[in-house]
Amino acid sequence: MTGISLNAVSKRFGATDVVRDVSLDVAGGEFVSLLGPSGCGKTTLLRMIAGLETVTAGEICMGGETIQHLSPSARNIAMVFQSYALYPHKTVFENVAFPLLMQQSMVLRLPWLRHLVPNRHRVDAEIAARVDPVCHLLGIDHLTARKPAQLSGGQRQRVALARAMVREPKLFLMDEPLSNLDAKLRAATRAEIIDLHRRLGVTFLYVTHDQGEAMTMSSRIVLLNEGRIQQVGTPLDLYNDPANLFVAEFIGLPKINVLDLHADGKEGRIDGIVLREMPSEIDGVPTPRGAQLHVGLRPEALQLCSEDHPHAMSGPVHIIEHLGNEAILRVSKDAKDICIRVQPEQAIGLSPGRTVSFRPAWERALLFDANGSRLRATRLRAAA
Ligand code: ATP
Repeated sequence: MTGISLNAVSKRFGATDVVRDVSLDVAGGEFVSLLGPSGCGKTTLLRMIAGLETVTAGEICMGGETIQHLSPSARNIAMVFQSYALYPHKTVFENVAFPLLMQQSMVLRLPWLRHLVPNRHRVDAEIAARVDPVCHLLGIDHLTARKPAQLSGGQRQRVALARAMVREPKLFLMDEPLSNLDAKLRAATRAEIIDLHRRLGVTFLYVTHDQGEAMTMSSRIVLLNEGRIQQVGTPLDLYNDPANLFVAEFIGLPKINVLDLHADGKEGRIDGIVLREMPSEIDGVPTPRGAQLHVGLRPEALQLCSEDHPHAMSGPVHIIEHLGNEAILRVSKDAKDICIRVQPEQAIGLSPGRTVSFRPAWERALLFDANGSRLRATRLRAAA
């Protein structure tokens, strides 16, 4: 199994830095998602790996060898695009067989000349012997005579996957391959890709801007913003232990609640509300006094409580989402919506407009400085 390493890779278009100093090691057989908002450089990074874009600075290695000087076809990397990029005038079989045909001589590739090649039937049989099992694996073997226009979006997507697989690549690059599918098909195809990865055991790099997709599919996520890596880790690492406020806000649905925190002496204020007793420690850090901070509280890190609790905040319930196994309360506070995840029975009898009191579960709170960097005990110790 072949892994891939990026060493301080950067890309500049004119005066614009699009990918900045990205270093990353992906082990052979891993499923890694490149996640981030639109325009953060995900596709550009993937295209540099595929050889479709030059590298401004840095090095890309596969299996320990530098691959930057290699042409895209020499890299043995398959890329599946959001648009599928199928040839509309070719059948499914011809689309899937296309990369194998391209490896043959020019004479064999030209329909009006190929009858001159004596071994054409043997070559055709060899190509069919590689195309047929891949089509079978992806469940499109009954569609091989159709043209792309006669297929559904999900079927086209599988043809694009089959065309990528037939070359037996060492690395799969996928650029938002599910974004043209409706929600139901998206979920089903997502499961198929996870299964495919398990069966092939090949390295997958998967671009998405959908954090839910990255969380459910990947062994690790690389979260990018403005061309820079913000954090690399397992989905749970990013959810439970975000490196900064950007990561904390990008990962998780409903979004994390971010409140302003100011602790003075024993008292503290959260978004201007006085808390009568501050905990001595937040997020493993002795509660800093006098500093303006942000506290991140995921919806499950807030709990309903009585209004006389020393840490109680309150506000009117704006929306109640009954989800069966849980309920989400959206509580209005100033201009914000605070999200609280509660047991379904806690939401029974609540109605919009009713004021509720809630408090932080401090043991689950995350602390950030005014610049959005996470305040961790280790960082404080290192700075000391
Ligand atoms: P999306 O999720 O919207 O596809 P992305 O994270 O994949 O976004 P890229 O497509 O890599 O982002 O683009 C990153 C930035 O580089 C964008 O601001 C884009 O406008 C710019 N860009 C991409 N290709 C070129 C190009 N050939 N010339 C100039 N700028 C480019």
